[in-house]
Amino acid sequence: MSPIVWARALQCTRCGKVWIPQKGVDHPPKVCPKCASRYWDIPITNQGASEASRKGSEKWQRQFGNQD
Ligand SMILES: [Zn+2]
Repeated sequence: MSPIVWARALQCTRCGKVWIPQKGVDHPPKVCPKCASRYWDIPITNQGASEASRKGSEKWQRQFGNQD
């Protein structure tokens, strides 16, 4: 396995799809070729954290409020 191949490959953080973009990593696709997610290059943990804070989930607040 050549490291050069991996240097030119991209991986979807949603479905784990690994692919080599035809135009190169400098011109990655807007969506994952497999699951078509527009957030394929954004770690799931970051999105989950921002989503939780944006929604202000009651469950989330209750979970931490009880610890006080
Ligand atoms: Zn994907």
